[in-house]
Formats: sequence, C-alpha cells, structure tokens
Amino acid sequence: MDKFIPLSVPNFKAKELEYVTNAIKTEWVSTGGKYVNDFEKETAKFVKTRGAVACQNGTSGLHVALQVCGVTKDDEVIVPTLTFIAAVNPVKYIGAEPVFMDCDDSLCMDADKLLEFCQNECRFIDGKLINNKTKKHIKALIVVHVFGNMADMEKIIEIAEKFNIKIVEDATEAMGTYYAKGKFKGKYAGTIGNVGVYSFNGNKIITTGGGGMIVSNDEELLSRCKHLTTQAKSDELYYTHDEIGYNYRMTNLQAALGLAQLEQLEQFINTKKENYNLYKQAISEIQGLRILNFRDNIRPNYWFYALYCDESYPLNRDEIIRYLLSKKIQSRPVWGLISDQKPYLSSQTYKIEKARTYLEHIINIPCSSSLSREDVLYVIKCLRDPK
Ligand SMILES: *Cc1c(COP(=O)(O)O)cnc(C)c1O
Repeated sequence: MDKFIPLSVPNFKAKELEYVTNAIKTEWVSTGGKYVNDFEKETAKFVKTRGAVACQNGTSGLHVALQVCGVTKDDEVIVPTLTFIAAVNPVKYIGAEPVFMDCDDSLCMDADKLLEFCQNECRFIDGKLINNKTKKHIKALIVVHVFGNMADMEKIIEIAEKFNIKIVEDATEAMGTYYAKGKFKGKYAGTIGNVGVYSFNGNKIITTGGGGMIVSNDEELLSRCKHLTTQAKSDELYYTHDEIGYNYRMTNLQAALGLAQLEQLEQFINTKKENYNLYKQAISEIQGLRILNFRDNIRPNYWFYALYCDESYPLNRDEIIRYLLSKKIQSRPVWGLISDQKPYLSSQTYKIEKARTYLEHIINIPCSSSLSREDVLYVIKCLRDPK
C-alpha cells in the first residue's frame, strides 16, 4: 500500500467549515459568541447533565475541577499511573501531592486496590481520609476512563462515599461512553462522579483543535468553574475580581468546530465500533495477539484499540511498532507510567503491578473515525504475516 495509515486523525466532513466560516464572518472569534454557549448546551444535553463549562483544553478543565472540589496545596489526590500525564499534572499545579494507584484489566484504576489502600494505609477520622504515611488529607481521586473504556464506577463511587472523597472523572478519552446495564444504566462517562472533563484535542474522538469541557450535575460547582475559567470577574462593567482566576475559556472558533463535531459523535462511534469488531475477530485468530475488551456492561466510544501481544507472537512490542511503520502503519506503545516520570519519582505508589505488564505488552493501532474497512484489512494482513 502506498498511503500512510495514521494512528488517529481528525475527521471534518460535515458542517465544520460552515460553522467556522460563520464565526469568522460574524467576527466573533474570541471567548464571546454564540457557538461557545451552544456547544456547552448541546454537550450537556448529549451527556445529560445540568450544565457544561467550555474551556481551553482538558488539562485546564482538570485543573479547575480539582480546585472546585476543594483540593488545596496541603491535600493529596489518588491518581492512576497508567494514563497520559495531563491527568496528574494539575494536582501539582495546585501544589497538592498525588498517590499512584494500579490499573485492573480494564486499564482503568483498580477499585479493589483502591479500597485496600483506603482501608489499610489510611485512617478515617472526623470524616477525613488521612494517609498514614504522610498524615495528609486525601481529598479527591481522579479516575481516568482509559481509551474510551469505563472505570468500575459502581465500586469507585461506593468507596468515595465511604471515605468522603470527591471524584474527578477524566473522561477526556471517553466522550460518548455510557453504562448499558446496572445501577448506572444510561449514565455517561464523566457524569457519575462530582465533576467530569472532556478533551477536544486533535486525537480525541471529536476535536476543536484544542479544547475541553467540564460537566457536572452540581450547578453551584459549575458556576464556580465558569467563574474561575473567566478570570474570576465578579462585575462585568467595573472589572472587580474576587479571587485568582484563569484565562481558560474556549473561543468561539473552537466551539464552532466543536458543535459540528458533536453532531457526528454517534456516527464516529459507529464507524469505530465496526472497525473494532473487524480487528477483534480477525486478530483473535492470530497466535500471540488479541484486542483487549471493553467492560461488558457499557457502550464504549471505541476511541482507541489496545492490541495485546504475548511471547508467542514472533515479534515483541517494539518490533511490531517498527515492522508496522515499515508497512506505513502508525502505532504506538501506551504511555510510560506516570510514577516512573522524573517529576514523580518520589511520589507515593501503591502496588503497581498490572500497569507495568500492560505497558510492556500493549500497542495502539490505527483507529481514526475515517479509517476504511480496506485499511483495517491491510493492517490485519500485515499482522498475520510479519516479515
Ligand atoms: C488528552 C488527555 C488529557 C488532556 O487533554 P488536553 O485537551 O490535551 O489538555 C488528559 N488526560 C487524558 C487521559 C488524556 O488522554
């Protein structure tokens, strides 16, 4: 094949140009303008929350989300180690400390280890979870819905309620994922904890170039988010500010793009699902390779496909990546564990085991919503016959 097959690229085939052109024609390109409000409203409607606050990117959304959950520099936050570093850096922006947790077979935070940690390594006094080792108050946890899967929210919510900790859902990779069964049936990733954040970075399921959205059912919390993302201005005319805010509001240009993308989200998910099933079936017949499942009680958004390679496949992880590249197919390993990164080497970790195994064995393979059936079949053919 002559053409290059990228891992994950944007897909602008509907009203993107029309809406962006309209934003430019009306000269509303900055943080004012109708698209920002419309995009917030439509997002809230889509994921069924009381409201949504648009922001510059997922990272800024997580920063504000932690702050409105009351996390301060004296606190600690439980975080996953197997994810993108932007899920954890906001803890440090606030000056708080992360405690790293392992993943389970969904690649998301291991709820059983989380419970074990809270019970065995902490004390619960006066409604506060106190880390035995540091004597600090663990005020929140950040749960990431990795690759569009759903963390085990049924268990995690129970633990958070028991120990009075706030939940920030990093749903940056999981917009559109929801529970299809059980206690949270119909609930979307990002809408189950106290506050959730989506990202519209270029490689996410829908994109605004760069952008993010904070969602919640707590209206007071949302209005705090809006305040903080817009310079904490308490009077529009006289410019009075009652605290330190940020210039984190999304622009109308970004939102114009986002609105057009949101209109296609379900369609993108359908294509990704078809390609996922095609890969999964064919790859299950290749010795040493398999595609990881999504949790079975959910409707995932099928954002990224995780190919697990074991020792019986003729190539190891890095060899597969190099081999695919020689066939003009882009793939990549998962992120290096965050607790192994230089700024976090001295942070506390709790029984990190599975995350390391998955890191060594998983690669992500092409999954764009514009990926054709023919492209998928070509990737499969290359994997079937590695040479
Ligand atoms: C993409 C991503 C983010 C950050 O989103 P940006 O919009 O790029 O700032 C945070 N956490 C995870 C898990 C992500 O994948």
